[in-house]
Amino acid sequence: MPTALITGITGQDGAYLSKFLLGKGYRVIGMIRRSASSDVISERLRWIGTIDQVTLVDGNLTDLSSLVRLVQEYKPDEVYNLAAQSFVATSWQQPIVTGTVTGLGAVTMLEAVRIAWPQARFYQASSSEMFGKVQAVPQNEDTPFYPRSPYAAAKLYAHWMTVNYRESFGMHASSGILFNHESPLRGIEFVTRRITDGVARIKLGLSDRLTLGNMSAKRDWGHARDYVEAMWLMLQQDVADDYVIATGRTASVEDFCRLAFAAAGLAMEDHVHTDAALLRPAEVELLLGDAGKAERVLGWKPCTPLEDLVAEMIAADLKRLAR
Ligand code: NDP
Ligand code: GDP
Repeated sequence: MPTALITGITGQDGAYLSKFLLGKGYRVIGMIRRSASSDVISERLRWIGTIDQVTLVDGNLTDLSSLVRLVQEYKPDEVYNLAAQSFVATSWQQPIVTGTVTGLGAVTMLEAVRIAWPQARFYQASSSEMFGKVQAVPQNEDTPFYPRSPYAAAKLYAHWMTVNYRESFGMHASSGILFNHESPLRGIEFVTRRITDGVARIKLGLSDRLTLGNMSAKRDWGHARDYVEAMWLMLQQDVADDYVIATGRTASVEDFCRLAFAAAGLAMEDHVHTDAALLRPAEVELLLGDAGKAERVLGWKPCTPLEDLVAEMIAADLKRLAR
């Protein structure tokens, strides 16, 4: 039975990846950081139904010794480094935490693997935010990076260090440059969940307005369930490499919002307001990925159209709030 170690297992992708890997027959070790609210920390794993099948172990991405001990003890075949301070807006408020966890944390995990079990295959959760002020449309593995936030700069450091460990030490380290991916388990502060949660509240009469920031920003939104399969496929290759994972379709925040209100039988214009306080110091206006390499080499393709993703998120938020 192969063993996978997942950092960030309590996050959106960690939950979906745990389900995917258990389905493939893996023993799944999930690293969680100590929290005073440990009773709610595994809510996503409960929702997705894997909480009783994964082994949860303590560790922190900023603590090399905890990572070395985990890698030494479990000798994982595969390590998925998903842990991060992952919210772009917060990264301007907490640039040092973001750099420490999202940037240096990845290097700390790479070091732990190099020291304790270098034959493990390593996945780094890189981000389309690294393209930032995009230098070409669509973006692929050859597009130059131009990070626009402390988050993106931290991810870029982690990305190049993953490449560097592969080239310097021969480690099987791959970096997935994933475009935005969502699900009912997406963090509530991200725009898609803000919208689907807001629409569900309005539908249920719990609220009558939804306040958003920049409605014209465009993202290439996929489903997290599809994207975790791509992570796994990268680690099944003989040779480690970097891959863009995206749907090849872009939509604005306004487009997403319109779809969400329509899915609930409501009119967006009656409820949506904008507030300049929600604008960012620097914006990423347009992301559109070209996942041609992933399709050619990994045989990966996204399966969930945006309309289905929106409908699934609305249905889940309605159900959650009705409870
Ligand atoms: P989430 O924000 O949902 O999850 C982040 C995870 O990191 C949580 O489990 C969190 O734990 C954990 N974490 C944070 N800090 C630490 C720390 N110091 N030590 C250990 N664990 C820590 O992110 P997603 O699941 O959405 O994304 C997964 C990864 O993919 C992230 O690295 C993200 O930046 C990246 N990514 C995501 C994209 C997306 O669209 N979702 C797009 C491209 C990249 P806790 O529960 O305790 O907070
Ligand atoms: P990101 O692409 O990782 O930054 O994901 P987000 O979901 O946080 O943001 C996507 C886009 O939505 C960005 O361009 C934001 O500026 C825009 N946006 C507009 N209104 C909001 C809002 O209320 N919350 C968030 N999080 N983003 C918003």
